[in-house]
Amino acid sequence: MSDNSQIIKRISQVFGYTEQAREQRLDIMGINPGDSPVIKLIHQHIIVPHHPAIMDEFYDFLYSHKPTRRFIRDREVVARLKKTQTEYLLSFGIDYDSDDYFEYRLRVGLAHSRIGLPMSLYMAAYSELQTILLSYLSKSDIEDDELQLKCVDVIGKFILLDMSLATDAYNLLQTKNLTDSIDQLQSDKQELKDQLIHDTLTNAYSRSYVMEVLGKRLTELQRDSSKQMAVALLDLDKFKNVNDTYGHQAGDQVLISLSETVISCIRQQDIFGRYGGEEFLLILVEMNRDKAFDLAERIRTTIASKTFTAGKHEIKLTVSIGLSVAHQGDTKEAIVERADKALYQAKSSGRNKTVPG
Ligand code: GH3
Ligand code: MG
Ligand code: MG
Repeated sequence: MSDNSQIIKRISQVFGYTEQAREQRLDIMGINPGDSPVIKLIHQHIIVPHHPAIMDEFYDFLYSHKPTRRFIRDREVVARLKKTQTEYLLSFGIDYDSDDYFEYRLRVGLAHSRIGLPMSLYMAAYSELQTILLSYLSKSDIEDDELQLKCVDVIGKFILLDMSLATDAYNLLQTKNLTDSIDQLQSDKQELKDQLIHDTLTNAYSRSYVMEVLGKRLTELQRDSSKQMAVALLDLDKFKNVNDTYGHQAGDQVLISLSETVISCIRQQDIFGRYGGEEFLLILVEMNRDKAFDLAERIRTTIASKTFTAGKHEIKLTVSIGLSVAHQGDTKEAIVERADKALYQAKSSGRNKTVPG
């Protein structure tokens, strides 16, 4: 509801109630200049002399129904409402074709939408007001039958006009609130999705996302046996030493820089994710064993030749890489396990190596 004030300021513009649009609305309601003298008569004989009694009867109706009663529990609120509703009644049908008339009715709709008054009660209240006005008409000193009929017609038309304008605004606010909620939900959903897809520390994808992609790529591979794919598991060598020597924060900084280094070596279609603490998984699409090995070696040598900085520290680092190539019928667990075995060999045979599985 944060933008209500903005809507309120330009409500008649929001609905495009230009002079022509107002005329069209009046036309469709059957309101014409001939109604002006009739509305004057209604004011003279009914509204002006009886408005306090009409208001009391109207509030008796609201009090006598449980759903409406809860909106008028507070005495102060009732006093305020009675005052504005009297104001409304005293302007009923007067200058009906003016911008002010439309604006006022639209604002009434906004106010009721904001307090959460259900549309059904809203309609019932308008209908009750009409009933009360008609009962005062029958008791009034307008005795000519033809004139009485004209008054009945005019009261009905203006109740309908006012109700239609108020419901226009009522619906706008409801729709706007709904749209706001949907927008908020969508942006929350997108944020959550982003969080799930990305690793929180590095620029890499998350483990769950990279495993999901691996599953999808393997399915594609089952359908098209001419496709190739390799997986590389990359683990930092003696990384515990980095933490122990330079501190955990420096270690974090190294993980971030290393992730950027790897991303700069791979192609756009490759997927790089953080598999665990200092272990990363790469999906290399459309790559056979030799090409994957070459790329893995390029990554390994780039890292080995680089000097990482964390604060004032300059840190040298190597990685070990285990490779595996996808087979027909592979599961994601199986292909990662083969890469892990190759990684273990790289570690046990001295580190800073790529071992094809
Ligand atoms: P190896 O060559 O056998 O892989 O030795 P290593 O020291 O890298 O392996 P080990 O499994 O003994 O230690 C991994 C270290 O990585 C220990 C852990 O604190 C560190 N580590 C894991 N995740 C993070 C992280 O998010 N930030 C930092 N700074 N360190 C991390
Ligand atoms: Mg390690
Ligand atoms: Mg490890």
